[in-house]
Amino acid sequence: MLVCNHYMEVLMKSRQIQLGKVIIGGGAPVSIQSMCNTDTGDAETSLAQIERLAALGCDIIRLAVPDEAVLPAFQRICAQSPLPVVGDIHFDYRLALGALQAGADGIRINPGNIRDLEKVRLIAREAGRLGKVVRIGVNTGSLDPEIESRLGRTPEAMVESALSYCRIFEEEACTALKVSLKSSDLKMTVEAARRFAERSDLPLHLGVTEAGSMKNGILKSAIGIGSLLLQGIGDTIRVSLTAAPEEEVLAARQILQAVGARREGPEVVSCPTCGRTKIDLLPMVAAVEEELARLAAEGKHLPWRKIAVMGCCVNGPGEAKDADLGIAGGQGKGILFEHGNAICTLPENQLLDTLLQKIRQAAEEIF
Ligand code: SF4
Repeated sequence: MLVCNHYMEVLMKSRQIQLGKVIIGGGAPVSIQSMCNTDTGDAETSLAQIERLAALGCDIIRLAVPDEAVLPAFQRICAQSPLPVVGDIHFDYRLALGALQAGADGIRINPGNIRDLEKVRLIAREAGRLGKVVRIGVNTGSLDPEIESRLGRTPEAMVESALSYCRIFEEEACTALKVSLKSSDLKMTVEAARRFAERSDLPLHLGVTEAGSMKNGILKSAIGIGSLLLQGIGDTIRVSLTAAPEEEVLAARQILQAVGARREGPEVVSCPTCGRTKIDLLPMVAAVEEELARLAAEGKHLPWRKIAVMGCCVNGPGEAKDADLGIAGGQGKGILFEHGNAICTLPENQLLDTLLQKIRQAAEEIF
């Protein structure tokens, strides 16, 4: 896993904290989070899902702690999870204390929905005493009332609220903090994170709340999270989707790869197709992407930057000149090329298989 220098430089500005075995901030690789959609009270099913998510590249897992009844199972999950566990707490400070005492590596709370600041201080003291991480989650629906009356529901009010909650935690010697600022308005979410990063060195958790189903959710998250990462803002991300958490992890990986924050193997580039396309390009692109995802999941990372799957030999090799390896279609045949230069001509039905074989060979040689 490689992190480009630009990110290293910018992220050096944020404070580094440790959540279980995962380092967050201060130039550490941007970590991927997801949330179990299992019943936390069912430890076995939850652990099985965590194992699957870990295999896909998830770094940190969060589970809902909706009531005290789930705490025994939550304790078992914390003890057996291969990933650091964060307890997701709403409203009840006793659940935050229970989750910390059950062995969570961290908790996520929104002080705005716990309301009573003395209870917030109790959580801060306990987290500080145990050396656990707290994510302070601020959203436009639960701002500090005084700040909201002064500044309205604005990015500035989100930042002010987050900073005032952080001060409370730091006063209680709880310093392993990270912050998220979310609104269902994409522009407001991005603006709030940007302003917060200007005023604080605390690591930022990025995500777009209520992002939606696969298509809309990935699009909104890619714009929101991606635009911040491109500015060097953000230390850990979650792509919230109304879909299986496995999809969230895959989408997060794609976003990190697209902005160059994490490189786990070559990027697949393909042309948009046009009237010159005489081969069935779409399944070929999907097959190459699948193969690379499979190799990445096995920890086999190719040394290449780009693999190209292009529709025609006329423009394909030239347009994808920077690809380490590629194929370009023709009428019933196609070519295999390296950095724009044809290596051989193949019948169409051998084109994809030859490319996949070359990819596997390179991965085995490296491994
Ligand atoms: S590479 Fe060829 S098929 Fe693909 S869009 Fe360009 S001209 Fe069309």
